[in-house]
Amino acid sequence: MATAIDIRSVTKTYTRGNETLRVLDELDLSMAGGTFYALMGPSGSGKTTLLNLCGALDHIDSGEIVVGDTHLEDLDGSELAAWRAAHVGFVFQGFNLLPVLSARENVELPLLLAPLSSRQRREQAERALELVGLKDRMKHRPKELSGGQEQRVAIARAIACDPQVILADEPTGDLDRASADSVLELMQRLNKELQKTILMVTHDPQAATYAEKTIHLDKGKLGRIEDNTAAAARSGS
Ligand code: ADP
Ligand code: MG
Repeated sequence: MATAIDIRSVTKTYTRGNETLRVLDELDLSMAGGTFYALMGPSGSGKTTLLNLCGALDHIDSGEIVVGDTHLEDLDGSELAAWRAAHVGFVFQGFNLLPVLSARENVELPLLLAPLSSRQRREQAERALELVGLKDRMKHRPKELSGGQEQRVAIARAIACDPQVILADEPTGDLDRASADSVLELMQRLNKELQKTILMVTHDPQAATYAEKTIHLDKGKLGRIEDNTAAAARSGS
């Protein structure tokens, strides 16, 4: 598979007062298209920073990030928004659904940036909700849904524009085990059936086993990359 996300010698620092914090230090990482990656590391190791950089939510200090065939540093403000809308779906720990909107209206939101009629938007949102198994809940508000259902609505919103890449930051961090497993199974299906490239930050070693590979990050440096499919084959599961 072609490379989906190529991180080349990326350095990212934050400045607070007169203190400079080097969060990512000349990081090199190449992620293959159609692969499900878990990203693990201690709190403060730079996981969220790396994820946000891959989605062009923040700027690097030096190096290069190439997603598909786009060099992110070449995009300016309005191009960035359009690029993001078409190419990446974001999933966050706290779901980030708008409470006053129904599930379907939440999923339709990112489609407002696409050149679609209101009817096409509605149909595309309904298809995404069907894919996550929640078409029968599309008129519900977030507070009328369980946490696991809210996260599945958020995943429907992330895939509504059919992006190639899904970036998820601790998507199961606020969920009980059973809800977490259903969200992880859904992510695995998006990878296997729709060939989405997924980068998922997680603290939970069990959540990471749903991914094909686990990338370890520590103090802004890349550690080992584990092949979870080989480990599963060895243990006979
Ligand atoms: P992780 O997701 O692995 O817990 P983060 O990427 O959120 O880590 O943060 C890495 C480090 O960068 C932390 O020390 C954090 O405090 C710092 N940091 C993150 N964002 C900012 C910011 N906007 N300004 C200053 N420091 C930040
Ligand atoms: Mg984080």
